[in-house]
Amino acid sequence: MEKLAIEGGKPVRTKEDFLVFGAPLIEEPEIEEVVGCMRRRWIGTGPKVRQFEEDFAVYKGVKHSVALNSCTAALHLAMVASGIGPGDEVITTPMTFCSTINAIIHCGATPVLADCDRETMNILPEEIEKKITGRTKAILPVHFAGRCCKMDSIIKIARAYDLTVVEDCAHAIESEYHGQKAGLFGDIGCFSFYATKNIVTGEGGMVITNDDRIAGRIKVLGLHGMSKDAWKRFSDEGYKHYQVIHAGYKYNMMDIQAAMGIHQLKRVDKYWLYRQKIWKKYKEEFNDLPCITPLDPEPDTKHAYHLYIPLIDIGKLGKTRDWVLDALTAENIGVGVHYLPVHLHPFYRKTYGWKEGDFPNTEWIGKRTLSLPLSAALNDRDVEDVISAFRKALFIA
Ligand SMILES: *Cc1c(COP(=O)(O)O)cnc(C)c1O
Repeated sequence: MEKLAIEGGKPVRTKEDFLVFGAPLIEEPEIEEVVGCMRRRWIGTGPKVRQFEEDFAVYKGVKHSVALNSCTAALHLAMVASGIGPGDEVITTPMTFCSTINAIIHCGATPVLADCDRETMNILPEEIEKKITGRTKAILPVHFAGRCCKMDSIIKIARAYDLTVVEDCAHAIESEYHGQKAGLFGDIGCFSFYATKNIVTGEGGMVITNDDRIAGRIKVLGLHGMSKDAWKRFSDEGYKHYQVIHAGYKYNMMDIQAAMGIHQLKRVDKYWLYRQKIWKKYKEEFNDLPCITPLDPEPDTKHAYHLYIPLIDIGKLGKTRDWVLDALTAENIGVGVHYLPVHLHPFYRKTYGWKEGDFPNTEWIGKRTLSLPLSAALNDRDVEDVISAFRKALFIA
């Protein structure tokens, strides 16, 4: 085997050609649509946002979809619109991005964590049940990496205790479980179109729900709390008065963003198939290495293939995950870490008293997790380079 770049060998790629983790595929139609918005000079919330919402609702087979400027905003409003606030508890996973927790905190509620499974990395229904108290109002499952949580059990628990279910579908645009699409198991589903997600609008998010009241509230709350269709106040229908009916938020999506989303959404299945191919190739190529490759999708489910995470077998390798991370960076391959356990960040430790040992499975994953590039933007050579670099880093003679 070649000498590693971290030890002075020649890297798999040159520095100039660094493979950026999570770079999206942007194609001509969205570039033209964005430029078109700018030329027409309607760049804020308008007809493109409306169209993107309609297209997404059709894609999901849902009654309402409301576009917002992030999934974080979507999670926040989902809870506010569900009446969750101070004194309430919301149960979620410590194996998630910080914004899942922050959204709970910002609506005034208290985040309560339930450990995840080591293999699926998803929240464990039995752990959720242990955390339910008289104050619990909602469960916020995260479909980690694009694999659906055990939604049959989670919905059963939610029904038994009369809890709202808000799904964090940031990784799960395409995911399905037992014939149901992600975002539609519970009351509200929240999606992200952030730059590294499966389809992108730069920044952007979407809420989906079949509940008319919730959808109406989210629409109003997302645009300053102004009454219905206030975005039209400067349109060619002429100026319209609006009423402020809540102290709302500035969470609306812009037409420039939706212009990208409309075209990206048309290719959602094509991109998914392409990432599936890369995922399968990685699995074949990494079988013999000291790492645990992700489980195959369970029967009667669709995995969104958002992240490819080979858990590093640190015992067998005799090196830490951070060493592997540095080794791949030296090979000029960009990687990600999803995630360091959320409960161990200083703010949450200080505020909620969470500490090492609280969530053993999450901490076990947190020490071993590493995400390799998995994007529709990768070409064959990129994929080969990732494979070469990862094999080089994990090779043990
Ligand atoms: C990306 C992400 C979010 C936040 O999405 P934004 O659109 O960036 O606000 C929330 N939860 C998870 C699990 C994510 O990966």
